[in-house]
Amino acid sequence: MLKFAAPILVPPVNAYICRQRDRLRSQAKMLPERDRIPVEKYFSTDVLDRVRILIAHPLPIPDPPFASVMRRFGFDFPSPSLTEAITFEDVIACRAGMNASLLFHELVHVVQYRVLGVREFARQYISGFLDTRSYSEIPLERIAFELQSRFDTDAQQFDVELQVRRSLRRT
Ligand SMILES: [Zn+2]
Repeated sequence: MLKFAAPILVPPVNAYICRQRDRLRSQAKMLPERDRIPVEKYFSTDVLDRVRILIAHPLPIPDPPFASVMRRFGFDFPSPSLTEAITFEDVIACRAGMNASLLFHELVHVVQYRVLGVREFARQYISGFLDTRSYSEIPLERIAFELQSRFDTDAQQFDVELQVRRSLRRT
């Protein structure tokens, strides 16, 4: 249901992501060394060098273009300004300092954006949302939660980009 809406929603959501990224980037800072250490074996140097972090409460982020309509249809869509953290390509905005686990989750999204490009990330996110009606069930989120839980519970290091590429072939 509502799957037909996906192609209509991709351009405005793509524009929304790029707008938030550009707007927040100017106020965001590089990942501090102490936060980088626990995650550095899992991500490329390039990802960790490029990522920018903004901490603000509440987050100065408007709802995406379709949010109120989606909520009216009964979709579980949290307000971006009240989520713990949200990622726009390589800019992570969070309400308080992130612990290593939450940072890891958001960095998985940075990698997903890199592998897919913003537009394709937006397309997969929207179509996953229309399919499942719940943000936490979106395949891109499930992959991020899955890898985050592996990071939390398994001491064995792994290459996130490789895992992301594998998971995208699977979905
Ligand atoms: Zn996520």
